[in-house]
Amino acid sequence: SSLVDDERDAGGGGGTGGGKADRRLIYLDSAATSHKPSVVTDALISYYETMNSNVHRGAHALSRESTEAYECARDKVASFVNARDRNEVIFTSGATEAINLVATSLSCREGGGREYRLIGEGDEILITEAEHHSNIVPWQMAASRTGATLRYVPASSVSDGFDVSALMGGLVNDRTKLVSIQHVSNVLGTINPIGDIVDYVRDNASPDVLILLDACQSVPHMKVDVRALGVDFVVASGHKMCGPTGIGFLWGREDVLNGMAPYKGGGEMIDEVYMDGSTYARSPARFEAGTPPIAQAIGLGAAIDYINGIGIDRIHEYEIELGDYLRRRLEDVEGVTVLGPRVGVERAALCSFVSDVVHPSDLGTFLDLEGVAIRSGHHCCQPLHRALGHSHSARASLYFYNTKEDVDDFVSALEGTLGFFRSLTSGTTVDGKDG
Ligand code: PMP
Repeated sequence: SSLVDDERDAGGGGGTGGGKADRRLIYLDSAATSHKPSVVTDALISYYETMNSNVHRGAHALSRESTEAYECARDKVASFVNARDRNEVIFTSGATEAINLVATSLSCREGGGREYRLIGEGDEILITEAEHHSNIVPWQMAASRTGATLRYVPASSVSDGFDVSALMGGLVNDRTKLVSIQHVSNVLGTINPIGDIVDYVRDNASPDVLILLDACQSVPHMKVDVRALGVDFVVASGHKMCGPTGIGFLWGREDVLNGMAPYKGGGEMIDEVYMDGSTYARSPARFEAGTPPIAQAIGLGAAIDYINGIGIDRIHEYEIELGDYLRRRLEDVEGVTVLGPRVGVERAALCSFVSDVVHPSDLGTFLDLEGVAIRSGHHCCQPLHRALGHSHSARASLYFYNTKEDVDDFVSALEGTLGFFRSLTSGTTVDGKDG
């Protein structure tokens, strides 16, 4: 059995996920987006039905109520990641927007003539070749805007578990102003040793280096304590942690955030607006211009309550075992190569793999016919796939609502599909007769 008690949340079809009622759906794509428990969908509906109104503005009771619910969601995020202060949590549309916020803010000299923290010509930004595109492209843009140099830790130094010694030999130096790295790889499942990386970077980079952690694949699955990690920014997406789409967050150290140029201009992010210029509010309002995703933030708050109800450490423990099982079962399938670290290196509950007989997209389509949802493609990690010598891979990713039975059913559907393709190439039919 999984960690889910409520029948409604165990899946519409008796399997994992909100499948059609007449069919068991085996949902193995939670690294792309997780399913949402009914407390989250109920919270969205309840917001629109009982307190719909804009936040921070109205003098009326409904607005006070929605403001309180929205700000209470911020408190929930802040305590979930152990932020020092609620003002360190900024709601964004997702992790992608949160990274773009930081990359744009640090690379655009905003009007008003004030001196904000800035990456400039000759400075260096360091990321890895294994990053998701959302942690690559914003830095390419920032580098081209400023004349900074973007450097990469090679995939070969991270694919078998992050090799901290790869940072030596010039990748980190006194011009390194920004390091941005994922906590857990959405392709390899590797869990990066952030403490060691932070220590090395702080000792060897520019004294005012800033470190961003892309925690999209860790915050939903394991305790992420922003203070213990020693980084400056953490980003995550709500929809991967049982919350709605359209909401994510940036956590940042308050002093750093208030020294950064605003990312978007508009209502709520200002202190005073004059015709010849404006002054800005402090974080978080500074970075939340316009009407925010109110319902989605409240939904994320409900998701956090739900996860806390199960216990994030319990989720982590359960998933490590289930992920290990997935990996062992997959490695026993003939002709399948699992990408990522050797057995024995701790990894998240996901496996990307390739087979010797079928393209990952065809595999995805055939497994879908069997009611198994996996992901196929480059998973927004083209540089990593190129470095590994594959254009695409298939990926099965798990969450606390998955079971060993899901893994078994997936593996038998996979074996059936591979057997079918093998029979096509060998000139025999699936039942072994000459075709
Ligand atoms: N980073 C990683 C490691 C991810 O897995 C993802 C989502 N696949 C993202 C960033 C981007 O998240 P979003 O699309 O929700 O903004």
